[in-house]
Amino acid sequence: MSILVLGGAGYIGSHTVDRLVENGYDVAVVDNLVTGHKAAINPKARFYEGDVRDKKFMNDVFDKEDIEGVIHFAAFSVVPESMAKPLKYFDNNTGGMISLLEVMNAHNVKKIVFSSTAATYGEPKQIPIKETDPQVPTNPYGESKLAMEKIMHWSDVAYGIKFVALRYFNVAGAKPDGSIGEDHHPETHLVPIILQVASGERDELTIFGDDYDTPDGTNVRDYVHVLDLADAHILALKYLQAGHDSDAFNLGSSTGFSNKQMLDAARDVTGKPIPAKMGPRRAGDPSTLIAASDKARKVLGWKPQFDDVHEIIKTAWNWKQTHPKGYDDQKGNK
Ligand code: NAD
Ligand code: UDP
Repeated sequence: MSILVLGGAGYIGSHTVDRLVENGYDVAVVDNLVTGHKAAINPKARFYEGDVRDKKFMNDVFDKEDIEGVIHFAAFSVVPESMAKPLKYFDNNTGGMISLLEVMNAHNVKKIVFSSTAATYGEPKQIPIKETDPQVPTNPYGESKLAMEKIMHWSDVAYGIKFVALRYFNVAGAKPDGSIGEDHHPETHLVPIILQVASGERDELTIFGDDYDTPDGTNVRDYVHVLDLADAHILALKYLQAGHDSDAFNLGSSTGFSNKQMLDAARDVTGKPIPAKMGPRRAGDPSTLIAASDKARKVLGWKPQFDDVHEIIKTAWNWKQTHPKGYDDQKGNK
């Protein structure tokens, strides 16, 4: 039987497909390549190009494949864009989930592992953030993902479709051999932007705000390596295969790094000066986001391998140096 990975050509999806293949799983990928790259997909996985919201296309994929479970990464995830275009986010993310669950139910596929996010919590009342803390998103992206969690809950109640919602904190890094990595256009995440400056592609980094209530005034975030995240998806699949109930888990390191500390770490790793200036706050940024991740460790048996941001940045820098133009450096890719 196969595992169907939706959004498997994207940053986190491609690393998860790679780890699934390495662990002996039979993998099929659906992606419409709206932000993903065909060259990122491990060639041992079967690729179907199409949209999760296209029910005819999805029914065909489910007819062709003998699917045991679904891992669902396919979504839009840029917070400022979601503020300007909320309906685009509810359509693709939330609408995509409704179509998907209908097709899964029609084909009697009852297991789904889902990319949720720390953005479902909004401005936290306490740090570290626990899974049971209130979920009050401060932007349409987080709201679209919270709605997807709720839709899965009611589909479990009605149809017995079991889910694991994995709430990622800040994902960074790349496969250490440099064969796959992060390649978004435009890039909005801190680590790849810092490395664009290190490589000379961008003049300087703008740090969004140094007047927050944190030790150095800049935002504090919790960074997790993309391969550790990928492994958590495999553990979540096993958890569902073992017949456990639906649940949600935070995925983070439980350690916070400020934006200034991330810049210093990147200067250490790259040996480059990385010019930076202070800018105004970015709308919707909570001051500090740190995960309580003991539940994933205890219940799923998750053991992250990368516990140092220097190591995480090193793998992202290796990808950047070997692929300065991202997947455009590879032949036959869009
Ligand atoms: P990404 O944009 O690199 O990957 C998303 C993939 O889904 C892309 O390959 C895209 O082409 C595909 N896709 C989007 N809509 C689709 C549709 N309707 N049909 C088929 N394919 C579609 O993003 P990513 O950074 O890899 O994030 C993956 C998931 O993780 C997203 O759901 C995101 O919300 C979630 N997430 C990411 C982070 C992070 O730090 N990157 C943090 C929290 C949660
Ligand atoms: N950030 C920044 N400059 C940039 C990009 C990001 O200062 O050019 C900050 C951002 O304000 C936040 C942190 O880096 O405090 C992480 O942002 P990112 O977009 O990577 O992830 P998020 O925390 O929004 O999921």
